[in-house]
Amino acid sequence: MPYNSDPKQQAVRDEVKIFAEKEIYPVSEHWDRMPEPRDFPFDMYKKLGAAGFIGYNTPKEFGGQGKSNLEYITLIEELCYHDAGFGLLCAVGELASYPILYFANDEQKKKYLPDCMSGKRIPAFVLTEPNAGSDAANVSTTAVEDGDEFVINGEKIFIMHGDVADLAVLFCKVEGKPKMSAIIVETDQPGWDKRTLKNKMGMRAATTGGIMIKDVRAPISNLMGEYGKGFRYAMMTLDGARIGVAAQGVGIAQRALDESVAYAKKRVAFGAPIAKLQAIQWMIADMSTKLEAARMMTYKAALLQDAGEKFSLEAAQAKLFSAEVANFCVDRAMQIHGGYGYIGEFSVIEKLYRDQRVLEIYEGTSEVQRLVIAGNVIGR
Ligand SMILES: Cc1cc2nc3c(=O)[nH]c(=O)nc-3n(C[C@H](O)[C@H](O)[C@H](O)COP(=O)(O)OP(=O)(O)OC[C@H]3O[C@@H](n4cnc5c(N)ncnc54)[C@H](O)[C@@H]3O)c2cc1C
Repeated sequence: MPYNSDPKQQAVRDEVKIFAEKEIYPVSEHWDRMPEPRDFPFDMYKKLGAAGFIGYNTPKEFGGQGKSNLEYITLIEELCYHDAGFGLLCAVGELASYPILYFANDEQKKKYLPDCMSGKRIPAFVLTEPNAGSDAANVSTTAVEDGDEFVINGEKIFIMHGDVADLAVLFCKVEGKPKMSAIIVETDQPGWDKRTLKNKMGMRAATTGGIMIKDVRAPISNLMGEYGKGFRYAMMTLDGARIGVAAQGVGIAQRALDESVAYAKKRVAFGAPIAKLQAIQWMIADMSTKLEAARMMTYKAALLQDAGEKFSLEAAQAKLFSAEVANFCVDRAMQIHGGYGYIGEFSVIEKLYRDQRVLEIYEGTSEVQRLVIAGNVIGR
């Protein structure tokens, strides 16, 4: 068991490998290179749901698989090894349903979670706005109470699956209430105007949307948790999701390493495989060492989460480090592959290069992770 800190992880890897060979590899290039305007892979999303890969760590009573967080991040790591865009489809399902699982009431959970887990409903985590990214508390989308409904107006951007989602966990201000609140919104109604953002660099199988919200209604009973706690719910959700992003980095970096080792053994220069050159060996050694550290940090954060311990610091550290390691490993992989790495016709390295870059941006940029880490280490 080369990479496992728990024997259960191997079963996850085996399950994903079978799925990837049958379902992902035949369509991976199609979804990556599809011309604009892009479609969302609805069939694949349903297949991921049917395989149990959406809501892997959600309790069975709500339609999930009831797996541990360590098993969940192993799922994401393995899916991202094969195709990070498809891994992201599952990770977004988790990001968007986590707040419902942890902060919604029983009625809301029963109403929405099972359909999110099966892939029947597509949920989105709707926080970021054109003028509120890292400064997430600064959202200006506002809900006004009108009888037993909220009437919501605003604009959101960079929302994973926001172009297709029929359910939103929406973070906004509520007029007359303090701070930010969270509202579950059924988006299939006039005024919820969504579009697919164009020319995304990587992770292309999972689309990203922009949303204009004009006089959209939601029942007041769809308030999630308490008024004014939305920012707290969002940050607690992101703590867990960051371990998932770290796992995305581990999967991508492992793929870059494996591709590099295989290529270095077969590519001949100056009469011998380039794997014999110390310059290449050192790149492989550095990739392998950093990857091992990223993997251990990622598993540690997940194990803390499984143990019910605090894990905010470790999740931020794992996300920061793993994203930078993925960037390093993919860059070295491209160097090892030379021209055959840069041109996507010849290898997967060009795709890995595009896919990994967002890991240092979404779910809190690397700078924001450093703020979180410093805040934990130094104290606020
Ligand atoms: C593909 C993709 C998918 C996404 N998915 C979602 C989603 O599903 N839901 C959602 O709500 N959001 C999503 N986001 C939004 C994402 O979380 C934000 O892009 C991210 O938080 C950064 O915000 P910003 O892009 O507005 O950059 P800004 O906040 O404008 O940051 C610009 C630069 O300034 C730096 N900076 C800002 N503040 C500080 C500070 N205090 N100290 C140091 N440096 C700072 C940043 O690190 C960055 O380098 C997604 C983004 C992308 C690209």
